[in-house]
Amino acid sequence: MTFAIHGLAVARGIAIGRAVLLAASHLEVAHYFITAAQVAGEIARVGQARDAVVRELQRLQAELPRDAPSELAALLDVHLMLLQDEMLEDGVKHWISERLYNAEWALMTQFEVIARQFDEMEDEYLRERKADLEQVVERILRHMRGLALPAVVAPPATDSALAEAPALVLVAPDLAPADLLQFKQGVFAGFVTATGGKTSHTAIVARSMDIPAVVGARAASQLVRQDDWVIIDGDAGVLIVDPSPILLDEYRFRQRQLVLERERLARLRHTPCVSIDGEKIELLANIEQPADAAAALRAGAVGVGLFRTEFLFMGRSGHLPDEQEQYLAYREAVEGMQGLPVTIRTIDVGADKPLDKAHKDTHLNPALGLRAIRWSLADPVMFRTQMRAILRAAQFGPVNMMWPMITSVEELKQCRIHFETAQRQLTERNETFALPKIGCMIEIPSAALTVSVLLKLTDFISIGTNDLIQYTLSVDRSDDAVSYLYQPAHPAVLNLLFHIIRTASRMGKSVSICGEIAGDTQYTRLLLAMGLRRFSMNPANLLAVKDIIIHSHINRLEDELPKIIRNDDPEKSEKLLKKLNEMVFHADGDVKAATAD
Ligand code: PEP
Ligand code: MG
Repeated sequence: MTFAIHGLAVARGIAIGRAVLLAASHLEVAHYFITAAQVAGEIARVGQARDAVVRELQRLQAELPRDAPSELAALLDVHLMLLQDEMLEDGVKHWISERLYNAEWALMTQFEVIARQFDEMEDEYLRERKADLEQVVERILRHMRGLALPAVVAPPATDSALAEAPALVLVAPDLAPADLLQFKQGVFAGFVTATGGKTSHTAIVARSMDIPAVVGARAASQLVRQDDWVIIDGDAGVLIVDPSPILLDEYRFRQRQLVLERERLARLRHTPCVSIDGEKIELLANIEQPADAAAALRAGAVGVGLFRTEFLFMGRSGHLPDEQEQYLAYREAVEGMQGLPVTIRTIDVGADKPLDKAHKDTHLNPALGLRAIRWSLADPVMFRTQMRAILRAAQFGPVNMMWPMITSVEELKQCRIHFETAQRQLTERNETFALPKIGCMIEIPSAALTVSVLLKLTDFISIGTNDLIQYTLSVDRSDDAVSYLYQPAHPAVLNLLFHIIRTASRMGKSVSICGEIAGDTQYTRLLLAMGLRRFSMNPANLLAVKDIIIHSHINRLEDELPKIIRNDDPEKSEKLLKKLNEMVFHADGDVKAATAD
């Protein structure tokens, strides 16, 4: 029976495929496709690991002291029974041979299938056996880690069985940004989570992967079953489960239309980004990994406006990358951009970007706590290590370095002292380096309101609207429960933005926006009218934003700005914005249709 689950639309597009349910605790298990030639080897790998666990448990059973509690013997019996259960074995074989999942993935998938059945049992004793199953599966996984991988490793794309396989859609209760990064190789065509906000970092990574995504779909993990057919409508923020043939046809039609639209936009790649009245606008890319430079170039970005370096530090169980490793990563990004500028932001962990699961932020208010530059200033050795790596990478192309979440001029001064120390340390080591331009992010209201002072100590600023909106409106950006209050067009936000852009322009300093609204076509014209000439965004949005810019007459848009800025009614802001976006211009700036009055 077809039904829909509503959430928040965070990454556009449509994905049609089979649901893959994952528990958050099992995401670190490897997920990749194998080739048909590897099927037997993978089945054998699970079999060997399972047999090893059986032997282990049988040994434990034999060695049980006579006076051991009877519950212990009974527990071992249950574990052995679960291990030898046909459903586990047959299911794992199915996922490996029919879907070409690697052994660990197949095991976890079948675990989810059986666990769901336990969940639905009336009998409490049987329901609780899910925990035993989990322990058994953990034991098998542990043994598999010790087994050598099968020798044949052919690229899966050449496998015809795989090419014909249905797309897969990930359904999980929650995903950390680092969890998502491991799927960047394209295993999943879309994803759905039960929690998360529109500008949560998980949503940002989804957009950078350019796959449709819905977050805050609370019931998804309970209502969707492993392998159900689902449609993700990333525009509407809806997950459709078990779609009828009519719905499937309709969505396949819309999918084809999206492909055509992408092809149309792709033709703009080499079109200069100039407005109708001749203003040149710079479109830059936000990246999370050095390899993303390729996508930035493909989209026609004229540089990287934000390299979120924290992703290099995540999921490493506390072993942070040393100077050399960081230097090589930054250098790869700089060289990857082939002479175009790269803005490297120093680490911004904390809040919804934990370093890893073991370091989950336990402070009462993580978003207001030891995050971003506060974290760096609290660990100067780590901070200076990162800046030394950036200084060394700056020899290989134009580099800008910026500090996140600056609150006050004192913080900026402290950063500068550490920066000078980092330079001195390199000089003492006889290491060569180049000086980057220095900037900071404006993402806290206190920084926005004192921006003229901060600009005196920096070469440039970049506005982090994701946080600026969060902190101005006191709305947690990753909490779907308050997402209705997260309003980029709130008059308070617009006035702050206008103040920052105007102040920087008057002082002759470079200002960009690297928050999500820079890549949201709904706000492109408004930002142009405010005087913004540098936008940094996820490469997937870049051509759509360019399309708006080349069809805009900025001078005429500026005429409309006072009304929008002076308006103090959030609802009216939306209406004024809509009118601005509907204006159609003649080449001479005359408005052809839908005047904004
Ligand atoms: C922002 O806050 O707008 C920003 C770009 O930084 P991040 O999303 O990484 O916090
Ligand atoms: Mg931020």
